[in-house]
Amino acid sequence: MKGWQIIQRYESVPDLPVLAAIDVLVVGGGPAGVAAAQVAATQGKQTYLIEKYGFCGGAAVAGLSGTICGMYKATDDTQAAPEQVVYGFTEKFRQALVLRNGVTAPQQYGKTFTVTHDPLVWREVADDMLTEAGVNILYHTAVIAVIMDGDKFQGVVIESNAGQSIILAKIIIDASGDAAVVARAGLDTYFGDEGRIQNPTMFFRIAGVDMDKYLAYYGMDTICPPKVTENIQKANAELGWELPRHKIWIFPTTRPNELMVNATRLAGQDGRMLNVIDPVDFTEAEVFGRRQVRAYAKFLNEFVPGCEEAYVVDTGVEVGIRQTRSIKGIETLTNDDVVSCRKRSDGICRTPWPIELHSGDKPKLHWLIDDYYDIPFGTLIPQVGENIIVAGRCLSAEHEALASARVTAQCFELGHAAAVAAVLAINTQRKIRDLDVAVIRATMITNGSAL
Ligand SMILES: Cc1cc2nc3c(=O)[nH]c(=O)nc-3n(C[C@H](O)[C@H](O)[C@H](O)COP(=O)(O)OP(=O)(O)OC[C@H]3O[C@@H](n4cnc5c(N)ncnc54)[C@H](O)[C@@H]3O)c2cc1C
Repeated sequence: MKGWQIIQRYESVPDLPVLAAIDVLVVGGGPAGVAAAQVAATQGKQTYLIEKYGFCGGAAVAGLSGTICGMYKATDDTQAAPEQVVYGFTEKFRQALVLRNGVTAPQQYGKTFTVTHDPLVWREVADDMLTEAGVNILYHTAVIAVIMDGDKFQGVVIESNAGQSIILAKIIIDASGDAAVVARAGLDTYFGDEGRIQNPTMFFRIAGVDMDKYLAYYGMDTICPPKVTENIQKANAELGWELPRHKIWIFPTTRPNELMVNATRLAGQDGRMLNVIDPVDFTEAEVFGRRQVRAYAKFLNEFVPGCEEAYVVDTGVEVGIRQTRSIKGIETLTNDDVVSCRKRSDGICRTPWPIELHSGDKPKLHWLIDDYYDIPFGTLIPQVGENIIVAGRCLSAEHEALASARVTAQCFELGHAAAVAAVLAINTQRKIRDLDVAVIRATMITNGSAL
């Protein structure tokens, strides 16, 4: 990337105040980081969570991605009830949302199901779970550098407007989504398919919907019916509108008369793919994302019955980022592992979610019918580097495989697995790469995971 340098490493502890010397440091408070921090602290480890925003949730909340995908199998049986195959931390979090009326019942999404959550309740559940577990949360704080001893991570430098400080940790869990810790050490990472990554989306919510009228027209499937696609194409062809994505998804939320809309598709104004890790592209995505939200809201007002009086309530705090850096792990989840539904003895998370690839004018969906695959533990371990493990969407995965494995249910469970491994490594004084995956799986099963 032109104009930016990511590597920022100290080879010994720099002359800065040490805020804490702890067991487990979790960087990033998205689904993976929340799970990792809660599990590590619950297992008795002194744990810090560092998050650059003032709340947890990452792409699920700041990006308003808004649903927990990846819990249920897909099927061709149109009468089938949802069959859940992912539990563990994912189910624990879902149940905590249920208790606060913060999540819907399963909603149809093509051949499978998802649930839509309330982003405010999501933040509150995360706050309460983390504080109850004894996690030290630092919001509005970012990791800006790593402290190394050869290949071993010793800690990080954090920064806020209070200044800079150091946290030393026995194990670091990089749950930043962007592999922000791994990349700062200069370890190998890559972007998608030879630099080609999925496009970002600006989510938005509309209120003031006549739900009966809307559902009578749109139907219960959250993926739009062909008539909506045809109307988008008609608006473009006959009215000169510019709606770049023709297949859109709309989710009724937990609030009355409100819908969450996944419709925009953001490319650079010169047609280039946007890599939102670059602030130039990120800024363009934000500006044009907000404009596109207004264009799709106008489309809903004029073409979708029940939405005539609807108005935009909010957009994501930031444009939703599906993909940036992936680590080069000791194992890589391959596209073939996904389409062949490969099961593994070293699997730490089931995934029934389709390959949901966002590029071009229609997202591509490749369904895994009545089946799932396992994500192997080694996808969380960088090829080089000790005392470090990643969790969440920066796992080592091929481009299309990541388009399946990156969703929220899986990120929760990957965080769960990373924390169990971190605790085991500390307790046994072994390297993460040398741990017995059977023990990690057994602990996860005791914690409620289905493996
Ligand atoms: C447009 C879009 C639509 C999606 N739709 C769905 C959907 O419908 N259902 C679903 O289940 N999933 C969906 N996803 C996927 C899902 O939301 C994300 O993949 C998931 O949130 C990733 O979780 P994560 O914890 O790995 O990372 P993230 O959610 O990206 O969280 C990483 C966190 O780390 C923080 N961070 C980063 N760098 C630093 C740093 N240096 N210092 C401190 N903090 C840092 C960030 O602020 C962020 O909070 C969607 C994603 C997008 C973008």
